[in-house]
Amino acid sequence: MISACLLGQRVRFDGAAAQVEDELLTRWIEEGRLVAICPEVSGGLPVPRPSAELRGGSGADALDGRSLVVTASNTDVSEHFLAGARAALELAQRHRIRVAVLKDRSPSCGSLQIYDGSFTRTRIGGEGVTAALLRRSGIRVFSEAELPAAAAALAELESALSGAAPRR
Ligand code: SF4
Repeated sequence: MISACLLGQRVRFDGAAAQVEDELLTRWIEEGRLVAICPEVSGGLPVPRPSAELRGGSGADALDGRSLVVTASNTDVSEHFLAGARAALELAQRHRIRVAVLKDRSPSCGSLQIYDGSFTRTRIGGEGVTAALLRRSGIRVFSEAELPAAAAALAELESALSGAAPRR
């Protein structure tokens, strides 16, 4: 699974993409492996949309109702982010996804860092709502800066699967 904006889809809050050019991504595209999603759009938010940040905790806290996702004008958009995370998980389960590469620092897709809720571009360690839900479900989540690690995880899974295949 991959964040749609990393593939060049213009789905970010400001209408831009965050395309990553990388040999691994090119190979995965050619191999037909990638399933793209923008959880915020799937959760019913438009493009463009007001930027939003987690406030009071990280994505896992939002899943448990202990933190909110809010815009700078203090509109609570948590329900959209939760719906987007559920949509991503459903898609992942349908495609039997085991590894995801998601755009870091997003309140949905961040897996290493997020912004701190002050709208001052202050980064803190933490994960977004979708990354947290996918991880809770056993999916390994990496940021776009960790493509080699994602490739290694994929190779490990494939090797385990081929080792478990029945002999003919
Ligand atoms: Fe990209 Fe994820 Fe933000 Fe959508 S929600 S624009 S896929 S980072």
